[in-house]
Amino acid sequence: MERVYNFNAGPAALPLDVLTKAQAELVDLGGSGMSVMEMSHRSKEFQAVIDSAQAKVRALMGISEDYAVLFLQGGASLQFATIPMNLRGDGQTADFIDTGSWASKAIKEAKISGNVNVAWSGKEEGYVRVPKQDELKLTDGAAYVHICSNETIGGIRFPKFPNTDAPLVADMSSEIMSRVINVNDFGMIYAGAQKNIGPSGLALVIIRKDLIERTPDSVPIFLRYKTHADNGSLYNTPNTWGIYILKLVMEWMESLGGIAAVQKINEDKAAALYSTIDSSDFWRCPVNKADRSIMNVVWRLPSEELEEAFVAEAKKAGMIGLKGHRSVGGIRASIYNAVPKAAIDALIAFMKDFEKKNG
Ligand SMILES: *Cc1c(COP(=O)(O)O)cnc(C)c1O
Repeated sequence: MERVYNFNAGPAALPLDVLTKAQAELVDLGGSGMSVMEMSHRSKEFQAVIDSAQAKVRALMGISEDYAVLFLQGGASLQFATIPMNLRGDGQTADFIDTGSWASKAIKEAKISGNVNVAWSGKEEGYVRVPKQDELKLTDGAAYVHICSNETIGGIRFPKFPNTDAPLVADMSSEIMSRVINVNDFGMIYAGAQKNIGPSGLALVIIRKDLIERTPDSVPIFLRYKTHADNGSLYNTPNTWGIYILKLVMEWMESLGGIAAVQKINEDKAAALYSTIDSSDFWRCPVNKADRSIMNVVWRLPSEELEEAFVAEAKKAGMIGLKGHRSVGGIRASIYNAVPKAAIDALIAFMKDFEKKNG
């Protein structure tokens, strides 16, 4: 079996333990005589899977009973549309912090259904940092404040989250469960699963129960958080396979010692890579040091030709997914929870060799 070192931004690497467990259980889940994809979502076998997935998410993140944990479809992108529809009342304004491509997409979607205030934007600076607290122009009485806590394309993250009077809503797609956070600081947290916690086509939503009650009657039933909360994420047929894989990823997280232990590993991985980038003028990371992501590491080489050669030669050496997003160019290594330290070590060795030949 030949596995590559996978630096894909999403869908991204999954733990090998999870894949082999899923393989072993694929044709017969727990003596049911069928795969998880073939059983009724209303069966007791599947109920056990979704209950366990939810319990593990709650335990790992320390989520209280004040919050609902939902497994929804439509990815993080559907949340960009449904959050303003559900949480922003008639005539109310939602505040957004514009830190990059994903925050901008959320803003664009929210503008369609009502008032948006961009409380800060990093666009003119090229999205290389997050704002300081005193730079935010927040609205009195805002419905909520939306952030993208880790910008997957720009490679920046909030080292500390902003203080807001209105509920803080965070897109954590590319960093969920990569570091310890206090869920009680947020009104809502959401994430597409395919970066850190499972396959695509599944979104994890953690939402304070009082916010669920805000939804105006004009919102279609399917698009209301209340519909899914009242039905245990089984209002209609959910992504049963995705929820099952997410459950296995949660078991893998537990086996490593939980999020604090994984955070430590992540910080070590990121520090090793950034220190290589900082060690020479051949590499250049455009991001403000304090705001560097520990999930998506972006950097440049002296020329686009060298960047192209870097990506091509890395691929030949068994390292894939290193091309920066098409909108910004450069190099990006996505080093999510499931990317092992060995992959970073291999990448660093390759970089040193590449610099020697081309520097
Ligand atoms: C990948 C990503 C998304 C989009 O997720 P989909 O599941 O494809 O809708 C949104 N926000 C961030 C921060 C992402 O990294």
